Amino acid sequence: MPDTTCSHLEAITTVKRAKRLECAECVKIDAQWVHLRTCQECGATLCCDDSPNRHATGHARASGHPVIASAEPGERWLYCYPDDAFAEY
Ligand SMILES: [Zn+2]
Ligand SMILES: [Zn+2]
Ligand SMILES: [Zn+2]
Repeated sequence: MPDTTCSHLEAITTVKRAKRLECAECVKIDAQWVHLRTCQECGATLCCDDSPNRHATGHARASGHPVIASAEPGERWLYCYPDDAFAEY
């Protein structure tokens, strides 16, 4: 792990991958998304900050779940909201 890591990222031993490549909240409201992120606490797959509804960030704020992983094929990184820490794996 790089030196930008934090206790939340260090605690992750198995990265949760997206079960479905769609934003669970955008699907409900028939909205579009740009990229997908998977919450490492509960496994929810939601849209990124480039998407109009920013559901992943909204979920992190509302739930307190700190870490997301990119759900994009070929991308292997994690991000911790409270520490603003980023790690590739
Ligand atoms: Zn952290
Ligand atoms: Zn969304
Ligand atoms: Zn979550």
